[in-house]
Amino acid sequence: MVIVMQKQASPEAVENVLGELKKLNFVPHISEGESRVVIGAIGPAPTEELIEQLRALPQVETAVRITKPYKLASREFRHDDSFVMIDDVKTGNGRFVVAAGPCGVESEQQTVDAACIAKKHGASVVRGGAFKPRTSPYSFQGLGEEGLRILEKARETTGMPIVTEVTAPELVETVAQTADMLQIGARNTQNFALLAEAGKSGKPVLFKRGMSTSLAEFLQAAEYILSQGNPNVILCERGIRTFETATRFTLDLGAVPVLKELSHLPVWVDPSHAAGKRSLVEPLALAAAAAGADGLIVEVHPTPETAKSDAAQQLNEAEFSALMSRLRPVVEALGKEL
Ligand code: PEP
Ligand code: MN
Repeated sequence: MVIVMQKQASPEAVENVLGELKKLNFVPHISEGESRVVIGAIGPAPTEELIEQLRALPQVETAVRITKPYKLASREFRHDDSFVMIDDVKTGNGRFVVAAGPCGVESEQQTVDAACIAKKHGASVVRGGAFKPRTSPYSFQGLGEEGLRILEKARETTGMPIVTEVTAPELVETVAQTADMLQIGARNTQNFALLAEAGKSGKPVLFKRGMSTSLAEFLQAAEYILSQGNPNVILCERGIRTFETATRFTLDLGAVPVLKELSHLPVWVDPSHAAGKRSLVEPLALAAAAAGADGLIVEVHPTPETAKSDAAQQLNEAEFSALMSRLRPVVEALGKEL
């Protein structure tokens, strides 16, 4: 249920509603819009009588039931686009952000070089996996905590915030000590214990859609993070499984406008993992921006041919530079700032 306060409702009136909701065993979540406060109340299914009672409280404009299984992620809860701060970098609500860096952190030199390339060509967040969720247990698994120390060096050198993946609930605390934003990968979209821990971490979360997760399931999974009191979630489309084998995954660009209709959360796209092949990364990135995405996460490596993971899809400096210069006019045409 959402309780919409009147424009310029007093803090006392908001407190009064919060108090009533708590008495009724609801957990309230506040969303402060430009001119009014909206309170999301999570709890037992409300009766018509209860809704009437809440509507009658001082300075309440209306109270409505959210019938969707995701509440805090829904447009009903927040009408305006929300934005997320990744340290001092804002994404969503008109701000387009590019995160770039290697698939995996392999060495200090490789990661710092990739981060410098990312910065030089206009990215504002560095990516890099220290804990890698690999399909085969015999593939490179990442450098773990040593990788986190290297990411700290990349942040020191470039001044850019870091996004890195967390693969297990027991690693959230460790990864959150280094990361400015936690990444939850496609193989963990419905790892509910991990989502709840990430929700408690206080860090923004770049939340990837699973390769066979429907958008309704994806939004319900996001709710596991949001309902812990962490509103800073970015939804990320990264390709789904279909019968097509020409690309690594099928980038579901239709998901971008659908998610923007159903949810207020920022939506990013990962063209690299969808493409699986470097020549396809740029066109998919441009199409994602044109479809209304609020940001991209792109794999960039100083020498992709030597990469220990995803060598075929990582961009070198020249390729990333070309992508960024073609991206700028697309983002601007949509009235957003890059
Ligand atoms: C990644 O971004 O490093 C990654 C593993 O992506 P995904 O979870 O989308 O496969
Ligand atoms: Mn990768």
